[in-house]
Amino acid sequence: MAQVDVLIRDGHAGGTAAIDDVAPLEEFLSSNQLLEKVKLPNDTDLSLLIDYLPRLKTIMIDFPSFADGRGFSIARELRKKYGFTGDLIADGPLIPDQYVYALQCGFDAVKVDGVTYERQAESHWYDALDAFKVTYQRAYEFKNGPEISVFDARETSASSRNNNDPYYGLSASEALRRAIKEYDGNLVLASSMGVDSSVLLHMVAEIDKNLPIIFLDTGKHFRETLHYRDKLVSMLGLTNLINIAPDRQEIKTEDPHSDLNQTNADACCDLRKVRPLSRKIFDYKVRITGRKRFQTPDRRNLPILQTNDEQVKLNPLAYWSAKDVTAYMRKHKLPTHPLLSLGFLSVGCQPCTTRVSDGEDARAGRWRNLDKDECGIHYVDGKWAPIKEKKTLEVF
Ligand code: SF4
Repeated sequence: MAQVDVLIRDGHAGGTAAIDDVAPLEEFLSSNQLLEKVKLPNDTDLSLLIDYLPRLKTIMIDFPSFADGRGFSIARELRKKYGFTGDLIADGPLIPDQYVYALQCGFDAVKVDGVTYERQAESHWYDALDAFKVTYQRAYEFKNGPEISVFDARETSASSRNNNDPYYGLSASEALRRAIKEYDGNLVLASSMGVDSSVLLHMVAEIDKNLPIIFLDTGKHFRETLHYRDKLVSMLGLTNLINIAPDRQEIKTEDPHSDLNQTNADACCDLRKVRPLSRKIFDYKVRITGRKRFQTPDRRNLPILQTNDEQVKLNPLAYWSAKDVTAYMRKHKLPTHPLLSLGFLSVGCQPCTTRVSDGEDARAGRWRNLDKDECGIHYVDGKWAPIKEKKTLEVF
């Protein structure tokens, strides 16, 4: 069987279109055509490329052997010094143990030749990604153990300073304590009672059991979610749970047969989630959210304290990874959502939530088969956005 090159991206073997027709540097520089892909030796003088970088889509960097790490330096220089934002691909006999470092240096993918791939197929690369998914230079860690690469940590460090995040570097519980003090207790936590909600509820309970916690009862939740809510509230001794619900008259008029979700899910979310939450949430100066940087590209620069919106947002878990959440739940022996063990990695309303299969994204089970991946509760420029507007931040 012919042994062909394989591109490993995000730990998985994928198509090789990105590496077709890549011109060697000399050919690229002498060509009068507007080529968009180039392959560089690992001793290239990058200043030669300055004028071309804005339109270059792909740069492949040669690794003559796995022991020659100069390609890593070139990648870092391209990202950090020259601000290159296109695809960066490492080309050479790298081994899976080097994969995470390659990503940390700014590579998007590694090209593996067919012979190497026969020995070290997809699972080796994927396992390496998992096994080495820790901060490479521990000096970049934040308190409470966020899990980010050195490359992202540098980005994070720079962007956080740019954002002027006054809570930068605080642990989650320190951020909560400080905000409660600074905002005189005028904070609210809107909790979906989902699979990782127990973390913030537990932290809040440790500091102030009477802090308001809003639960939005859409009328469509799994019974398990409602039981889980009651269990957590009782176990943690929370004394200020506020259940809010859609307006009865609006339900009667707009969803009289309780089947709007089947015909117009956006309208249903607007009726049962966006409007009821909007009516209550702005009673408070600060809203505590469980949003995390790793969840979506939109959130990659999320600060811990966000003061540039109409309502201040406190994101104590901004720098947390999924592993941090699990570790915290284990450490504090917090019960898991009853549906988690049945394969529901993200739990919303019952009619719009399904199990996910191995390898699927955690949110793949939400609104499956619908061209919809968010519930319509979003902030756009600091305001709750009508559903048809650009969606920037998903909340539940
Ligand atoms: S998630 Fe489904 S049932 Fe719940 S409000 Fe949205 S459309 Fe309606």
